[in-house]
Amino acid sequence: MPELPEVEVIRRGLAPEVVGRRFLRVAVGEKSLRRQSPAGELRRLLEGRRITGLRRRGKYLLFELEDGASLLVHLGMTGRLLLIRGPSLALPHTHVTFRLEGGLELVFQDVRRFGQVLAFPPGVTPAPLSQVGQEPFSRTVTPAWLAAQTRGRSRAIKNFLLDGRVLAGIGNIYACEILFAAGIHPATPVAALNLKDWSRILKETRRILKAAICKGGTTVSDYLNSRGETGLFQLELMVYGRAGEPCRRCGAAIVRIVQGGRSTFFCPHCQKSPAFVTLHK
Ligand SMILES: [Zn+2]
Repeated sequence: MPELPEVEVIRRGLAPEVVGRRFLRVAVGEKSLRRQSPAGELRRLLEGRRITGLRRRGKYLLFELEDGASLLVHLGMTGRLLLIRGPSLALPHTHVTFRLEGGLELVFQDVRRFGQVLAFPPGVTPAPLSQVGQEPFSRTVTPAWLAAQTRGRSRAIKNFLLDGRVLAGIGNIYACEILFAAGIHPATPVAALNLKDWSRILKETRRILKAAICKGGTTVSDYLNSRGETGLFQLELMVYGRAGEPCRRCGAAIVRIVQGGRSTFFCPHCQKSPAFVTLHK
């Protein structure tokens, strides 16, 4: 599932190609995504309008248009946004095709259809963005700010990192990698973390997200960038998807547990929990 780095890689690939161009025509497939504006609305709000900016918020891409309208795209679990030169190739699982000036086509493919393609009229802030938390690179986010967000809650640090209403864009892969790098057991209750722990978590969050963006993202199943290429960060994963394999740092076997219905991977030797906390797994 694409997370912040993958969406940022797509944004960086697309922006120089699409900003400044107009949407000429929007074509929708037979099967709609689970959240998709009606075809008529996409056409009415996009066709003929020039793209003035392409931003990312969390895992969302926001195309800003000259009249103040906008197009919000979320890749869901298996979504791909491919930029193709020349006539459309009729790719399978294509849900929306945006024809742009300059002979370009922006194609949204999604096998599982959890993606979102939503158009918003001028002056309307896309509602889904109100649920998006702070960007991990934002100056607002400090160790003290993170600690303050946990007040009154006793959940595990892994689930806290996955909560997109606090920190935007971190999914299962990067949450596991961040906690390994910070040396923190994923089941540690957030209440047990001190400012030094938060400082380490934040530092590693930024370092890992940055490194993943530089490597073109992580491809473990479906993710491709806008040119149809896989990422390379999967080669650098320390724990994610490595249950039973030796830790690259200490040689202990990587363990898989389930937290909040999602797999968590960690090294029981490198990732310690505070001594006074009893962990079930
Ligand atoms: Zn280890």
